[in-house]
Amino acid sequence: MSDTVPIFDAQIVKKYERRRGSWFTSYPYQSQWREDPCTADVDFAEALRRNVPAGAPVALYVHFPYCLRQCLFCQCVMVVSQDRTLYRAYLDKLAAEIALLVAHFEKTGFPNVREVHFGGGSPSILDPDEFRHFASILSPIVDFKTLDECAIEIDPRFGIDADMMRAYHEVGINRISFGIQDFDPAVQKAIARVNPPEMIEALLVPEVRALFTGVSFDILYGLPKQTREGHRATMERVLAFAPDRVNVCLLGHRPDIFPHQRAYREEDLPSTEDLVRMRIDTIDLLLGHGYGRIGLDHFAKPHDVLSVAKREGPLMRTVLGYSRGRCETILGVGPSAISTFPDCYTQNYYSLDKYTECLDQGRLPLVRSCILDADDLLRRHVIFAFITHEGVSFAEVEGRFGVDFRATFTEELKGLRELEADGLVEIDDQGIRLTPLGTINTRHVCAVFDRYGRDSYLQARDLGDGRRSLQRSVNHAATP
Ligand code: SF4
Repeated sequence: MSDTVPIFDAQIVKKYERRRGSWFTSYPYQSQWREDPCTADVDFAEALRRNVPAGAPVALYVHFPYCLRQCLFCQCVMVVSQDRTLYRAYLDKLAAEIALLVAHFEKTGFPNVREVHFGGGSPSILDPDEFRHFASILSPIVDFKTLDECAIEIDPRFGIDADMMRAYHEVGINRISFGIQDFDPAVQKAIARVNPPEMIEALLVPEVRALFTGVSFDILYGLPKQTREGHRATMERVLAFAPDRVNVCLLGHRPDIFPHQRAYREEDLPSTEDLVRMRIDTIDLLLGHGYGRIGLDHFAKPHDVLSVAKREGPLMRTVLGYSRGRCETILGVGPSAISTFPDCYTQNYYSLDKYTECLDQGRLPLVRSCILDADDLLRRHVIFAFITHEGVSFAEVEGRFGVDFRATFTEELKGLRELEADGLVEIDDQGIRLTPLGTINTRHVCAVFDRYGRDSYLQARDLGDGRRSLQRSVNHAATP
């Protein structure tokens, strides 16, 4: 290990690595949201009216639910199909959802959409004409020529070539994100996702790369057949591509909810000891190669907008990960998409059938929502301060919320004593700071301020409307 990462007490790292818990992309998280389509509809309309006046900067997340094949690790909301008529039918429904948003904006005023994020599923399985049509559906609310950021998740395995990349550029995409997961052939076979580094090399030629201002790589650790050596070799290959951002996330292994995860053998999963080593190796390699830590498992080069936002202050934690902080509202369209307002969350149905049914009835496909009370807003601010800026200042929180921090969080400060003794936090008269060890266990510090508790997080995916869409059948013979 180089001197970029201090030597940690392995037993303590292991103790926290074993703990499950939220990654706090939202707070409160979904298990606390109210599941009632009528309430969600009202909450959405009122949140829009309260928070999004005409011209307000907003981001837009657009979900494309189809994939050509099932990756065995996947936890995304997706449906496997090679039937392109279904893709077209889905885009027609998306157009209906956009028309309903337009009807809202005609009353409240049109926001200024500054960012668009195409995710899925696998939006990159669309061919250039299909993708241009996809983008044109958004044109009533998006001016692609003026966006600050327009990003797409790319599955490099299917139909992606220089022509497709040029089509993205012509539409207005300026950030591309590749789902790599791992370059080790044994791991790729075990997870039914074969994308060797040569595939990425052939795609990311200088002429193509020059079309985009940012390239991100997504890596997973905790995959079947993954070893410390293999993961390190993957990270070294990743560094050779010099992406602007690298996200290195832990596999969520929940075969109880995602039955396709039963297709690999649990005994092939890395041990806790290996997970700990992989995390520390990852941090060591990325920091040693000039990346900065954005937070949790996100890293970026110093010139990247997230690094700039981190240095200058407005970095935000969002349901999409992190953002530069310009848009306090993120509108989500498509099945499962979440809309985030400063004081409210709403979410669309997971199920494609329910999503379609709502739109056929002329109503937004909203199923659940959550209006944050004063305590939620305070706790979210504290939790997100740890996730974005590795600490919390008592004076900043007191000034913003008009509370006495130590009197309000007496129990939490007691709860932090164990983490302080383990060397995760330092507490003084000014505030609470994560130590280097704390920065690799941030979510466990955040959990101390979570009033809903760990058990409720563990139920968070057991949502009524999602069961059908999440329990998809897998034809393993069809996977590579
Ligand atoms: S991980 Fe694989 S199955 Fe899951 S959304 Fe991405 S491409 Fe589809």
